Amino acid sequence: MSSIRHAEVAGGGLAGLTVATSLAQQGWSVRLHERGSQLREIGAGIFLWENALRVLEQIGAFEEAAGLGDRIDSWRLFDERGRPIQNDWMKDGSTRLVTVKRTELHQALAQAARRAGVDIVTGSSVAGATPDGELLLETGEALKADLVVGADGVYSAVRRALGLDLVVRDLEDGCMRHLVPRGPDDVAGEALEYWNGGRRVGIVPVTPEEVYIYTCCPAKDLEGRQQPFNHKSWGDSFPDVRHYLDRIPDQSRWAAFHDVRTHSWVHGRGAIVGDAATAMAPNLGQAACVAMVNGFSMATVLSQHDDVRTGLRAWERRQRGVSDATQRYSRLYGKVGTRWPRPLTDVRSALVWLAGRSETWQHQVNVAAHSGADLVGPRNS
Ligand SMILES: Cc1cc2nc3c(=O)[nH]c(=O)nc-3n(C[C@H](O)[C@H](O)[C@H](O)COP(=O)(O)OP(=O)(O)OC[C@H]3O[C@@H](n4cnc5c(N)ncnc54)[C@H](O)[C@@H]3O)c2cc1C
Repeated sequence: MSSIRHAEVAGGGLAGLTVATSLAQQGWSVRLHERGSQLREIGAGIFLWENALRVLEQIGAFEEAAGLGDRIDSWRLFDERGRPIQNDWMKDGSTRLVTVKRTELHQALAQAARRAGVDIVTGSSVAGATPDGELLLETGEALKADLVVGADGVYSAVRRALGLDLVVRDLEDGCMRHLVPRGPDDVAGEALEYWNGGRRVGIVPVTPEEVYIYTCCPAKDLEGRQQPFNHKSWGDSFPDVRHYLDRIPDQSRWAAFHDVRTHSWVHGRGAIVGDAATAMAPNLGQAACVAMVNGFSMATVLSQHDDVRTGLRAWERRQRGVSDATQRYSRLYGKVGTRWPRPLTDVRSALVWLAGRSETWQHQVNVAAHSGADLVGPRNS
């Protein structure tokens, strides 16, 4: 490549920071626009699977983002009768799983972006983009680039402007996320998930001082999503873990789950990545991991193509299969975990238990974690 190529990126979330850093590390000049007055993430935990950990290693942010995270060796599921229905959900020896604090992951990515020379502009709202490579700001300014990337989340203005929208669906379920103080007898080295009807509680160590708890339910479960947090209602549904639920602070925020489907991720010199392109319910703990892999991979594939349009099409061809499959399995998990008919929960337990016996099925569901070697590269450790 003869001259330095320039990219304008919309969105300073996990996807935007990853793609911006990766492009800058491949020699691009990159400007990233975040509409917030500062770069920010919410205080909660996040699962990072093998595929995302490899991206962090490749961009030099692993130690800062995940070095202190809790390594999860098994993910166990329990049904409403307290029976274990999975002991090693989606885990095998070849895929690492780490939980970290979102704020720390986000800060580590922002630091990596700055080190790579990304120009981060906060308080800059993007109105859209054109396939010719213009990023349109709400101020009316049009910024010309070789590549414009929409990493601007579920309601992406860039996706809409590029004409890539197919379906943006509120899945009518969601969850509240909490960090609570960790005691000496609390869970360590494993993730625990409890199901009762359409409700699910996850309990996961995240730092030496904190446990991450998620409480998921259908949107129509008004007690389940009540704010302040309804300790009694959740404690009655999950008496075995009441001692964790009692530590949840009153202040909690409901996060609705979304599914984004698109005609394509690219149009001309424009591309979308992250929730803008592949939002899914976080049932598999893969939405951000897939976003980071796709962001990293965009930069790698473009480095092999002089023509940006051809490179973007090659990038989508390479990434799309794993992303689509992950969205499909996440939808299925949501149907089973949240929308299963209550009188048939014993059937659900039996089916989930059976699914866990099939290595092929588990591998399929967690195809994104297993794709790290092909889509990112070898692991460093
Ligand atoms: C409850 C919950 C739990 C989850 N747990 C996990 C998990 O364990 N593991 C996992 O891999 N994933 C998980 N996810 C999914 C993960 O959080 C998302 O996939 C990821 O954060 C998406 O990042 P993003 O950068 O694409 O989008 P966002 O985080 O939405 O970032 C978009 C950014 O763009 C900015 N922006 C938006 N519009 C504009 C504009 N017009 N101009 C400029 N800037 C703009 C926004 O301010 C924001 O900073 C979870 C999600 C939820 C809701």
